[in-house]
Amino acid sequence: TRFAPSPTGHLHIGHAFSAWTAFQAAVEAEGRFILRMEDIDTVRCKQEFEQVVLDDLIWLGLDWEEPVRRQSEHFADYARVLERLCALGVVYRCFKTRREIMEDIARAPHGPGEVYRGPVTPISADEEASRIEAGDAYAWRLSLARSRDALGPRFAAMRYFEDGRGAQVVDPDPLGDVILARKDVGTSYHIAVVHDDALQGISHVIRGEDLREMTPLHVLLQTLLDLPTPVYRHHRLLLDETGERFAKRNKSATLKALRENGVTPDALLSRFAG
Ligand code: GLU
Repeated sequence: TRFAPSPTGHLHIGHAFSAWTAFQAAVEAEGRFILRMEDIDTVRCKQEFEQVVLDDLIWLGLDWEEPVRRQSEHFADYARVLERLCALGVVYRCFKTRREIMEDIARAPHGPGEVYRGPVTPISADEEASRIEAGDAYAWRLSLARSRDALGPRFAAMRYFEDGRGAQVVDPDPLGDVILARKDVGTSYHIAVVHDDALQGISHVIRGEDLREMTPLHVLLQTLLDLPTPVYRHHRLLLDETGERFAKRNKSATLKALRENGVTPDALLSRFAG
């Protein structure tokens, strides 16, 4: 299994719980544990944060296989995934502005919702060509309708396993047509995580409940790309004293602050029981 932080800030107690949960699962299964830096956001991810992440995890007592994969060094891999999805005909360019999308959503038959279900009438090949020519910005969206057509019976047969809940049926519908890349940023978390989990032979993805809603999309991508679907487990999220989820903005809960204030890893780990 793996821990896959994005070094956009300092790790907090919630990250420590996530890393520890995955690490423990690997130890108990006599499996392997990998650390991956999900740093495709080259504006927000910083080398200094990455170093603190490494220090935090060592302090916590974790240990992982080297070398650590840095996604920012592998954009070409992710570009190939997007090409493959283009070749399958399951992605399309969406030139709509945020405002146009909000208007489309408001006009949708089921009334306002939060997700974009894709265009009612796709733009013509001519219009698309002229907008590309004009240099207009666009996003690559995964078409659920075309994915359904491309997969046929395999679409309805998609499942993933979750501990204690049995095999879960994959329903990507609530997510709508998700953005997988943009004209200028040729990848996204979804492409990179699905590619790397397969490349690195991750058999168990152990991550927070906040990512559960994305799992159907990841399983759909794996199915389209003929990649294996790992076992998914989504752990509970730790809450702070006020009942809120820990967040990067919560400075006092960073592992760096705890370390510097003399908190021991054991004292922290004792909070994870139960
Ligand atoms: N990089 C993601 C994050 O920091 C986690 C990805 C995953 O575990 O699938 O939220």
